Amino acid sequence: MAKKRKVVPKKISKSGSNFGYYMFMDSGISVVYASNVNEDGSMDAALFGIDTWRDGIIACQCRHFENMGSFEEFMRDRHSSIKPSTKIICREEIAYGLRIRENAHADLPPEFDKWRYIVDPLGDVILPPYIYRCPECKGKLPEEHIEKIISGIDGDIIFYLLCDRCNENQSPLRKSARYATTIHVHLYEAIKDLEEFTVTWYQDYMPELIDVPVREDYKEGIKEMISMGDIELAATMAIEVHIAHSTVPNNTIKDHHVLAALKMVINDKLIEDDENPETDLIEYVAGYIQEGINMFSGLMRFKLGGRSYIDSALDKIAKSVVNHYSKSNPRSYIEFIHHFVKV
Ligand SMILES: [Zn+2]
Repeated sequence: MAKKRKVVPKKISKSGSNFGYYMFMDSGISVVYASNVNEDGSMDAALFGIDTWRDGIIACQCRHFENMGSFEEFMRDRHSSIKPSTKIICREEIAYGLRIRENAHADLPPEFDKWRYIVDPLGDVILPPYIYRCPECKGKLPEEHIEKIISGIDGDIIFYLLCDRCNENQSPLRKSARYATTIHVHLYEAIKDLEEFTVTWYQDYMPELIDVPVREDYKEGIKEMISMGDIELAATMAIEVHIAHSTVPNNTIKDHHVLAALKMVINDKLIEDDENPETDLIEYVAGYIQEGINMFSGLMRFKLGGRSYIDSALDKIAKSVVNHYSKSNPRSYIEFIHHFVKV
């Protein structure tokens, strides 16, 4: 726990000064360091953790430094991704995160009010007229997306939505509801419950990124897609998640096995030649595809047309495997869907 110090409002360092501002920004997470030189030459530095895709400011910590030199030394030891920034940029980012929380009437981190003086007056910062920017192009998001994002604040559904134009450019699987990237989930969890001023999350978390799920509870996401009317997408997602689970951890399985497994399920026929060692691999993947279909059917329950959605999802996935075919990389499609999996 940080030592509690009595806080007396102090003179803010000269406006326009860019001294003591640092920022890290990646995949919807920003970490901003801002500092203030006190009259006795000591420094107070605050860290603000911001989720720009949904939750706004989610962390705030502060640390006192004897002098500017010790602060600079501390910042030099930070990860290389934390770069010197400017007061204008840092204040904008914090004000952006603050507006998200105020707009949603969500709680601010406990330390925030104590340390905001370092970057105040945040109310004077000029922000874009819309609460959320599109994660791809930073442009305006449609109103209904914004409402949906706000209603999910601080929940465990981590998603982000694109503007219509960017959405058009996505692959069909990614249309409509999009789930936070692996990096986002990691960074989010690392800063959400931050108890210290020192952020070592980046080094600690990066090496594991590849094999961790975009979202553990993908079933909720699929359910949500069904309720939003994205039924074919839900079927595709349910099946692809299962394909990913069976293929990503198993290097002997290649794209052509996946394609054969899909054909097997589409034609509802087992392979005749069970002498072929490849048959085992294909049947293994086909079993998972069937599980995906079962999961989707279970979620659809009494809704009509389930089977036709499954058929078109299977066709679509088979096309996607073919489109990914690459001589140089026999696991090109599998790598494309690897983000679904936790190994
Ligand atoms: Zn966009």
